[in-house]
Amino acid sequence: MYPIKLCNKANYGSKRNKNIEYIVIHYTSNQGDTALNNVNYFTRETLKNPASANYFVDEKEIWVSVPDDFIAYHCGAKTYKHKTCRNSNSLGIEICMNDKNGNIRYDSIKNAISLTQNLMKKYNIPISNILRHYDITGKNCPAPMVENPKLWQEFLNSLTQTTPDKEINDDMKIYTKIDEMPDWAKPSVKKAIDKKIISTDKDGAISVFEPNLQSLVWMDRAGIFDKK
Ligand SMILES: [Zn+2]
Repeated sequence: MYPIKLCNKANYGSKRNKNIEYIVIHYTSNQGDTALNNVNYFTRETLKNPASANYFVDEKEIWVSVPDDFIAYHCGAKTYKHKTCRNSNSLGIEICMNDKNGNIRYDSIKNAISLTQNLMKKYNIPISNILRHYDITGKNCPAPMVENPKLWQEFLNSLTQTTPDKEINDDMKIYTKIDEMPDWAKPSVKKAIDKKIISTDKDGAISVFEPNLQSLVWMDRAGIFDKK
């Protein structure tokens, strides 16, 4: 269960009479915004051109704005690229994806992966029905995942490869050596050390929380560590 701040009724549609078959990923296109900023905005405002989403996600929180069984106006258009995915049979997830400098917030994406996994399970949605807004209408949304298709592919891969919702707690593993890490993380962590994104102490030891491994692999595959 995720917390809810109900969207202003003027901004979303009626109760669904179709099954939820698709999940559509968006980005808010703001910089440094939060999920809470967004749900508050959609609660407060009556939009001239009604728009809404079912969920807003940042690195800390996941908020419901439009309940699953109501139609959110997130991917409507005059013309469509996709044959069957519409507002009426999809859930819309908005990710707060850019920080105030325009950089990608990988931990927001990670949080959206966990939400998407939970919804896939709940509604029995296959990975082939997880789409970008772009795939439905051609809109440049979520821009970082349209402009860098690798980032999108990595999002899809993570849906099947990682386990959802790991809370950070006291017995959370901290890796001090690359050798202790799972193989899928080693090359990326090595690069991050070479680039001094991860620092080492005088004995060459590192300190990386287990939940951060996935983000490091992401950053690597998106080409972040290859920048000069
Ligand atoms: Zn969008």
